[in-house]
Amino acid sequence: VQNALKDVISLCKRRGFIFPGSEIYDGLANTWDYGPYGVELKRNIKNLWWKNFVASRPDVVGLDSSILLNPRVWQASGHVSNFSDPLVDCKACHERFRADQLLEEKLGESCCAGKTFPEIHQMMIDNEIECPKCGKKDFTEPRAFNLMFQTQLGVLEGTGNKVYLRPETAQGIFINFKNIMDNVRPKIPFGVGQIGKSFRNEITPGNFIFRTREFEQMELEFFCEPGTEVDWYNYWKKTCVEFVESLGVNKEKLRLREHAKEELSHYSNGTSDIEYNFPFGWGELWGIASRTDYDLTQHQKESKVKMEYFDAVKNKRYIPYVVEPSLGVDRLLLVLLCDAYDVEKLENGEERVVMHFSPKVAPVKAAILPLVKKGKVKEVAEKIYKNLIQDFNVEYDETQSIGKRYRRQDELGTPYCITVDFDTIGEGDDVNPELKGMVTVRERDSMKQEHVKIEDLSNWIHAHLK
Ligand code: ATP
Repeated sequence: VQNALKDVISLCKRRGFIFPGSEIYDGLANTWDYGPYGVELKRNIKNLWWKNFVASRPDVVGLDSSILLNPRVWQASGHVSNFSDPLVDCKACHERFRADQLLEEKLGESCCAGKTFPEIHQMMIDNEIECPKCGKKDFTEPRAFNLMFQTQLGVLEGTGNKVYLRPETAQGIFINFKNIMDNVRPKIPFGVGQIGKSFRNEITPGNFIFRTREFEQMELEFFCEPGTEVDWYNYWKKTCVEFVESLGVNKEKLRLREHAKEELSHYSNGTSDIEYNFPFGWGELWGIASRTDYDLTQHQKESKVKMEYFDAVKNKRYIPYVVEPSLGVDRLLLVLLCDAYDVEKLENGEERVVMHFSPKVAPVKAAILPLVKKGKVKEVAEKIYKNLIQDFNVEYDETQSIGKRYRRQDELGTPYCITVDFDTIGEGDDVNPELKGMVTVRERDSMKQEHVKIEDLSNWIHAHLK
């Protein structure tokens, strides 16, 4: 099955979606750079999330907070003491692993929930967990490895200047709660959404862009009145699933997994993951958590600043409860890549690789392909291109045979190929006079062709991107 992921990785490199990081210097493990098509795909994902969860909602506002925050933020949030994974060393080959991951691969999800380190160690022995690298079964006891990257502020070395790169964007929202309340004055229920980079010094990054140490998140903190959080939690679960489905993702590869009681953090009264069936198995895409008033209360304690909301209608004061849908940009991008990738057998026996992206997320919306690269055909094609590029990300390609150009666009997932030929310009032998001023639009998935008037093209594409 892992070959399926290899095929996706290879297409990503070959077609300029995602390159291995620092490649000319022999790389840097588990870092990836988004190339010209990857960056478009990523932008489309972020724009769609922002539009759906922030811009088009009267009850959500946006924020862009700093990556570097006062270290007391992470004291208050619990990240300094608790944001760690159980690290074990293989005594034979000295490779390091996450004990919970090794156990979960054998015993299933959340088998380590609520277990102490000595208990986890015993579970590894009882279940004869083998080192994935050398096969031996002798591991050290697990120890806590904090996932936050540390760095220092300014020129003086010393512990007083220690800061962390944020491991999530959410805390930036909580610490601006009062600013937003006092200055923007929204009425509860309302949410604050943010997109930005987060950093985690993961023990075992891997599976391409599934788990990396630098990644982007799209997070929403939705503040509500205590007692209404279960309804909102259910509402956001449904809304998030609908969003993923609206991007054309195969419903059979999606599931919503409700966390068992033992798996919940002490402050959460409900957490679910939207999972996708990746080539390497089911994995978390989107976490939706009902977090009660834990975060705001912690910041109120640490900062001594009141985090209360006054409801003027009900004449009551309270610390709001929060429901948090948290999604990784890169994770969603990997879902879209894996879900779109397809190798089709054609009637003539040939194979074609095609990315079945929904037109909404496709990096290139249309390609303009002149049948020949000279004369009036080229002129008309160039004019169409210059016109359309004002409104859509379109490409112009006059190299190679038309068949090869189609294959290239199929691999980029371009939903529409527009060909300009002698019929379009109405010049040449046996042209069909009815097709003058028209182009041929080929649809990627069905490969069906239809004729569209040049002046209708922009509206036609617009209508088909919805
Ligand atoms: P795990 O237990 O798998 O490490 P998590 O439960 O700690 O993940 P969350 O803290 O819930 O993950 O993060 C919210 C979302 O951010 C995840 O659902 C995922 O989409 C994304 N995310 C988290 N860690 C990473 C990472 N290392 N690389 C890429 N995306 C990530």
